[in-house]
Amino acid sequence: MEEKDFVIIGTGPAGISAAVTAAKSGVDVTLIGEDPRMGGQIFRQIIPPLYSQTHYVDTQNEKIFNNLSEEKKKVHLQFLSKTLVWGIFDDKVLATDNKDHPLIKAKKLLISEGAYEAPVAFPGWTLPGVITLGGTQILLKSQGLIPRGRTLVAGTGPLLYYTASQLVKNGANVVGVLEASSLFKWMNWTFRLIRAPKLLWKGIQYLTLLKKRRIPIYYNHVVAKAEGTESLEKVIFTKDNNNWEPQEGTEKTLDVDTLCLNFGFIPSTIFTHMAGCEHEFDPTLRGWIPTLNNKLETSKEGIFVAGDCNGIGGVKKAFVEGQIAGTEIALQLGQVSKPETHSFLSRLQKKNSRLNWYQKFLKDIYAFRPGLLKLLTPETFICRCEEVDFKTITNTLENGAWSLDQIKRLTRMGMGRCQGRFCFPTVLGILSKYYSQKELNQLDFSTRPPAKPLPLKELI
Ligand SMILES: Cc1cc2nc3c(=O)[nH]c(=O)nc-3n(C[C@H](O)[C@H](O)[C@H](O)COP(=O)(O)OP(=O)(O)OC[C@H]3O[C@@H](n4cnc5c(N)ncnc54)[C@H](O)[C@@H]3O)c2cc1C
Repeated sequence: MEEKDFVIIGTGPAGISAAVTAAKSGVDVTLIGEDPRMGGQIFRQIIPPLYSQTHYVDTQNEKIFNNLSEEKKKVHLQFLSKTLVWGIFDDKVLATDNKDHPLIKAKKLLISEGAYEAPVAFPGWTLPGVITLGGTQILLKSQGLIPRGRTLVAGTGPLLYYTASQLVKNGANVVGVLEASSLFKWMNWTFRLIRAPKLLWKGIQYLTLLKKRRIPIYYNHVVAKAEGTESLEKVIFTKDNNNWEPQEGTEKTLDVDTLCLNFGFIPSTIFTHMAGCEHEFDPTLRGWIPTLNNKLETSKEGIFVAGDCNGIGGVKKAFVEGQIAGTEIALQLGQVSKPETHSFLSRLQKKNSRLNWYQKFLKDIYAFRPGLLKLLTPETFICRCEEVDFKTITNTLENGAWSLDQIKRLTRMGMGRCQGRFCFPTVLGILSKYYSQKELNQLDFSTRPPAKPLPLKELI
C-alpha cells in the first residue's frame, strides 16, 4: 500500500486551492479526481479528445480558476485524473479504481467531493427526458451538447436563470422557466444582492436575455406531473403557495421534450459518513453537514472538509476553505511554523466568515418547503434505482420502521446505483412530518463501499 502525506478527494475549486496552498509550503500532495481534467462543477472543461471553440465555464469567476491554474504550474503535485475513490477505510486508507494506485494511506486527508442536486419526486419524474439542470450543464460544458427539442426549466434559484440563458445562447429551444418561489420573494432576495453588485448585474443580464427571447417566467409555479409513453411528451404544472404546495384547479399543460429540474443542492457526505465523522442533520437541506472546527478539521483527527460538501457556499467560499485546510495541514505536517502562519490563517478565517452571508442567502432560497410532498401519489417512485414507491415507504413507516437504515433494509430503498443520493432526501422530507429536529439528528445512516458504481473487475 502506498503512503502519502496529504491526499485530496475532489478537483473542484476547494480541492485545487488546498493542493496549491499546501504544495507551495513544500507538502507532498496527491490530488484525486474522477474527471479527466481539473475544475469541478463550475470550471468543468470539454473532455479531450473532444474540442470546442466555445468556452462554457463560468466567466464571472474564471479569474479564480486561471490564477489557480497558473499557481499549480509553479508547484509540484501528483494529480491522479480519471480516478474514482470508492471507499474510505480505517486509518485514512482510500480505495480507488486506478490500477496503479488501488490503495492509498493518507497522513492527512481532505474531502472536497462537492454537492449534488436535490431531487424532487412527482408522477413521471423517472421518464426519459426528465433530467437535472446540473446534468444539462455537465453535458454542455464537457461535450458541448444542448437538450433535445422543446425544453422547460423548472425548480427554484439562480441556476435556473443562468442555465436557461446559457442554453438559449447555445441554440436550445427553451419554452419557459417555472420558479417555485414568488416574485415578491425574489424582490427581497435581489435586495440582499446589493452587497454583491457583480452577481446582481449578471442576474439582470440573464433575465434581460430571457425577456428579449420572449421566454416566459412563471413565478409561484411547480411541475405537478410529467407524461409520455416512451419518453417525456408533456408537463402539467400548477400554481403553488409559499410552501410550494400545488394549488388544485390551476393546472396548465405544455408540450415538452426535455424537462430540466433544480431545487437546490445537498452536500455530499458519503465519505465523511464512511470515515465515521460526526454530523448534524439540517432539515432545510434534507441532509447532513459534517461537524468541523474553525480549521475545517472533522471530529476524526487528520480528516478535513472544504467546499460544497460543507454546505453550499459558492466558488469563492470553496476557494478560501481550500486555502484554510491546505494551510492548517501544512502546519500539522511541520512544513510551516506556527508564528509564520498564525496571522495568515486568521486572515483567511475572517475572509471565510465574510462569505457566510452568501451561503445563508443560498440556503434561504433553496430551503426545502414540504408542500412539494403533496405531489406524491401512492404509485410515485421514491427510489428509482430499486423501484420503491411512496405507498411502500408509508406502509413501512406505519408498521413501525423508525430509521433511514430500517426503511432501507425493509424496502431496498437506497441500495441501488445512486446509493441513496436520489431517494434519501425525499424520504427525509417525509420523515420530518413524523419526527422532531432532535429526533432527526439521531437518524444518521450507515454507508458502505462502493460509494459510486465501479466495474466488478476493479473490486476483485
Ligand atoms: C451540478 C452543479 C452545477 C453547478 N453549477 C454552478 C454554476 O453554474 N455556477 C456557480 O456559480 N456554481 C455552480 N455550482 C456550485 C459550485 O460548483 C460550487 O459552489 C463550487 O464550485 C464548489 O466547489 P467544490 O470544490 O466544493 O466542489 P465541486 O466543484 O463540485 O468539485 C468536487 C469534485 O469532486 C469530484 N468527486 C466527487 N466524488 C468523487 C470521488 N468519489 N472520486 C473522485 N472524485 C470525486 C467531482 O467529480 C468534482 O470534480 C454547481 C454545483 C453543482 C453540484
